[in-house]
Amino acid sequence: MIIDLRSDTVSKPTAGMLEAMMNAKVGDDVFGEDETVNALEEKTAHLFGMEAGIFCPSGTMTNQIAIKCFTQPMDEVMCDETAHVYRYEGGGIAFNSMASVRLLYGDRGRLTPELIEPNINPDNVHYPKTSLVVLENTVNRGGGSYYTLEQIEPIYHVCKLKNLKLHLDGARIFNALAETGDYAKDYGHLFDGISICLSKGLGAPVGSVLLGSRETILQAKRIRKVLGGGMRQAGFLAAAGIYALDHHVHRLKEDHQLAKALGAALQEQYYVKSIMPVDTNIVIFELDTKHNPEEFVEKLNHMGVKCNTFGKQMIRFVTHLDINSEMVDYGIEVLKKVH
Ligand SMILES: *Cc1c(COP(=O)(O)O)cnc(C)c1O
Repeated sequence: MIIDLRSDTVSKPTAGMLEAMMNAKVGDDVFGEDETVNALEEKTAHLFGMEAGIFCPSGTMTNQIAIKCFTQPMDEVMCDETAHVYRYEGGGIAFNSMASVRLLYGDRGRLTPELIEPNINPDNVHYPKTSLVVLENTVNRGGGSYYTLEQIEPIYHVCKLKNLKLHLDGARIFNALAETGDYAKDYGHLFDGISICLSKGLGAPVGSVLLGSRETILQAKRIRKVLGGGMRQAGFLAAAGIYALDHHVHRLKEDHQLAKALGAALQEQYYVKSIMPVDTNIVIFELDTKHNPEEFVEKLNHMGVKCNTFGKQMIRFVTHLDINSEMVDYGIEVLKKVH
């Protein structure tokens, strides 16, 4: 048996999803004529209480477009030091938006008004103009930690008061909603932009949607085009996204339960020095210093558990659509045997 815990991006389309893709009605989306893409954009915008959406090939693109929409060159973007937009988007903030970044040090990647407010630059020519705050929910490098709406509201108020835009990197927003019970609809009025990924826990092969006001999304269309992200008969991909939203959101809690089971098993192993709380579908643990993490991952791979190192002495597991409880039982046996 092989259990692939490297990322929730590795899941493959199900039979039902493939059928939905094959039956999609498509057109040229650069002309705005792909009805399945239009349906996905409307569906997601409606779901999150926003005016409009734009379908893009990746979450990196939706985030980068949002940052470009909400900043001018020489501005400053504020985010946690763990943020995907800062760490894993290839330096795109500098390249695409010519903005600087102010890093904050939140609790497992989560920011608060108390962290944000003192880091807003004064209106003075020496300082870059702080114009955008980016939150991530759930936080990947925070081990799948999440914000509740109640925690986001005071951040929204600070941004409003200080005239800052607020963007959500919601690559795993549905995982957060599954735990908090908050409604997606209540997110819309708090954010200027929301990026959601269809190809993580939701199991679509490709795609993310950026949500915002009609005006923002019109601007986003220009930026998507210049980045080379305008797609033609993209409805085949959008159909997978619609199917994912209809069929794979309600099951995310199962991923969280399986992640918790893996976390509990790790807790008992002598080679684990520490483990982050398992809040959603991500498990991050620290190996004791007697073990070399690359060699350890190699051993696990050899025994059928695929995973990756995740920074110094750290290893990450991610559960997803293609991981079931039998696989996790098998994985736990491997964790007991490996040394
Ligand atoms: C995966 C991910 C993204 C988007 O990544 P792509 O691979 O470009 O789709 C954005 N933010 C976070 C937190 C992610 O985990």
